[in-house]
Amino acid sequence: MRSILLIVGLALGVATLHAQKRKTENILLVGWDGVRWEEVFTGVDSALMTDPAFTKRSGGMRSQFWNDTVAVRREKLFPFFWSVMARDGQLYGNRTIGNKVDVSNPYNLTGPGFTETLVGFADPAISGNNKVLNNSTNVLEFINKQEGYKGQVAVFAMSNLFDYILNKPRTGLMISCDTDRVDRPEPEFRLLNEMQELGPRPFGERPDLVTYFQAKEYLTLVHPRVMYLEMGETDDYAHAGSYDFYVSTLHSQEAMIASLWNYIQSIPQYKDKTTLLIACDHGRGGQIKSQWTGHGPQIKDSKDIFILAMGPDMPALGEVGTDTQLYQGQMAATFAQFLGLHYVAEHPVLPVITTMFKK
Ligand SMILES: [Zn+2]
Repeated sequence: MRSILLIVGLALGVATLHAQKRKTENILLVGWDGVRWEEVFTGVDSALMTDPAFTKRSGGMRSQFWNDTVAVRREKLFPFFWSVMARDGQLYGNRTIGNKVDVSNPYNLTGPGFTETLVGFADPAISGNNKVLNNSTNVLEFINKQEGYKGQVAVFAMSNLFDYILNKPRTGLMISCDTDRVDRPEPEFRLLNEMQELGPRPFGERPDLVTYFQAKEYLTLVHPRVMYLEMGETDDYAHAGSYDFYVSTLHSQEAMIASLWNYIQSIPQYKDKTTLLIACDHGRGGQIKSQWTGHGPQIKDSKDIFILAMGPDMPALGEVGTDTQLYQGQMAATFAQFLGLHYVAEHPVLPVITTMFKK
C-alpha cells in the first residue's frame, strides 16, 4: 500500500510540475452542430454541389469554392483551418488517410453528442434531445469549482439544451442561450438583446450571429478564462436540405472563429496563453449522398466526426495522418489538462488526448 501511495504521490508531483510549465491559461471551445468531416477535409462535395435538389446556385458555389485539387478546394472553404491551424495546430478526423474520430455514444444526435463532449463519456442517461437536467458532473462545472476558475467559465449557445446538459440549476454556470438576455449595462449588450428580440428565428432558436457577438463582447468586457461557444445553423440548414446555405454558413462561421482567434491575440490575458478546440456533436450521412441532410442511430456514418485544435502547448502536427482512433468524450479530460487540472468525476472519464501535449 505504501508503495502504491508513493507512486500516486510521484505521479501527482510530476503532473504539477508539467502544469507549471504549461502556457495555457485560457480555453476557447467551439461546439459546431452537425458539421461534416467531409467538408472540413475535402472541401465542397461535387455530387451535392451539382444536384439541383440540394444546391440552387451551383455556378456560384463552383466559382467560389471549387477546385479539382482537394488541398486547394478545402482551403477555399476554410482558409483559417488550412493556412493557420494546419501550420500551428492539429487536425484530427481525415478518414481518407486513415485518421478517425468517432462519437462513442450510439445515438449520433445533438444532446448525447454535446453531453459526451462535456461530461467526458457516453452518458447512458442521455439518449436524445429531451430536456432532462443531467445529473452527471460535467467538466465545465468541475473547472468552475477549482481555485482561480470560480465564475471564470462562460457558455454561449444557440440552443437551451445547454441549460439541461450542464444542469444550470445545480451548477450555477453562466449560460446564455436561446432567448436569454445578457443583463449588463454596456450599450453593446442592449443592442444584442434588441437584435435577439426583433430578429427572425427561422429555426425557432437564437441566430448564431447573435450568440457569436454576445460571446465576443462578453470576452472583451469580462475576460472569462474558459469560454464555450456553440453555433448550430449548420445543422439546421443541412436538415432543410440546402447545401448552398450549409456551405455558406460553414464558410462565414469559420471566418468568425478566425476573427475571434485573431482578436484575442490583441488582449494580453489571452495572447499566446489560450488553447482553441473545435469539435462537433455528430457527423452526417455521406456514404449514401442523399443522407447528408440527416444523422442519428440509423445513419451509421454520422458517428464520424473531427477535432481541430491549436494552442501554445501543442506540438504543431498539422493534419494528423496516423492510423489512430480518438473519441468525442476524450475532449473533456483534455481541455481540463490544458489548464493543469486532472478531471475526475463520479462517472467514467475517457482518457486525455496525449498527442495534444508536448512531451
Ligand atoms: Zn440535427
